[in-house]
Amino acid sequence: MKKILLPTSIVGSLPKPAWLAPPEKLWSPWKLEGDQLLEGKQDALRISLHEQQLAGVDIISDGEQTRQHFVTTFIEHLSGVDFENRKTVRIRDRYDASVPMVVDQIARQKAVFVEDAKFLRKQTNKPIKWALPGPMTMVDTLYDNHYKSREKLAWEFAKVLNEEARELQDAGVDIIQFDEPAFNVFFDEVNDWGMAALEKAIEGLKCQTAVHVCYGYGIQANNDWKKTLGSEWRQYEEIFPKIQKSKIDIVSLECHNSKVPLNLIELVRGKKVMVGAIDVATNTIESPEEVANTLRKTLEFVDAENLYPSTNCGMAPLSRNVAIGKLNALAAGAEIIRKELGVTAPTY
Ligand SMILES: [Zn+2]
Repeated sequence: MKKILLPTSIVGSLPKPAWLAPPEKLWSPWKLEGDQLLEGKQDALRISLHEQQLAGVDIISDGEQTRQHFVTTFIEHLSGVDFENRKTVRIRDRYDASVPMVVDQIARQKAVFVEDAKFLRKQTNKPIKWALPGPMTMVDTLYDNHYKSREKLAWEFAKVLNEEARELQDAGVDIIQFDEPAFNVFFDEVNDWGMAALEKAIEGLKCQTAVHVCYGYGIQANNDWKKTLGSEWRQYEEIFPKIQKSKIDIVSLECHNSKVPLNLIELVRGKKVMVGAIDVATNTIESPEEVANTLRKTLEFVDAENLYPSTNCGMAPLSRNVAIGKLNALAAGAEIIRKELGVTAPTY
């Protein structure tokens, strides 16, 4: 990967076009079927790439245009999972959702996202990042009727994630990111087995690896939860020491408009930090100066060469215009800080 100072990227998802899936909701159903759906997903992926490149984003994601949901779509590709007889479970101790059920030994019979990653790789020379769900968050987003142990199930998920990650790496993915919002809720489990499962998922990888830990999409249940967290959100303090000791290269965090004390970032000093400088829980588009302010504040706790400007979380639930505005603000805000540091924008 070419060395870029302050390379920008999004956490993962972007809104889908209305002709592919109704916008501004999670688990939005596909509007197309069969070959048309396949073609539609690829067209949406092309648009997502185009919008990131137009905005000047440096590390490109697929915008998760081929997935209905960041966790369940991966799970539905595994054997041992019944995704027709769904169960309602409480996710992250916060909201109920209809999810697939583990009914037998789980296995990955074939690649899940590898063809999509190859497709994206062909469309751009920029570095690409691919997001996968983390083992603990997968465990927390389904009903387990087989293993009856969150730890055991996480270990099985870690093994299949590792198989997928190795193939994504071979397909030319530069950064593989594991989304672990559950890390911000179940601290004891993170320290007991969650981090070990994540290390199993990245075992043997030579590409860069990232873990994304946030306070969730801007949906009502998450916004209500945040109101209960008090004036300082210190959840990261519980898990950063463990992440610091891990082999994970990059930590992706929620910072902008959040009540996370930024000095907690000091606890992962030495790691690369994807700093969330875009709030995904509001339709208000940040000004480049606001983005720059957040980045500038974090420079006290992360060395400039390790600072990766990003978004707080995925932008799937936002409108397309708002998401595009936020992409532009992210790139422009990073550029302000590059200028202050005396470096010019990367060129290709
Ligand atoms: Zn997130």
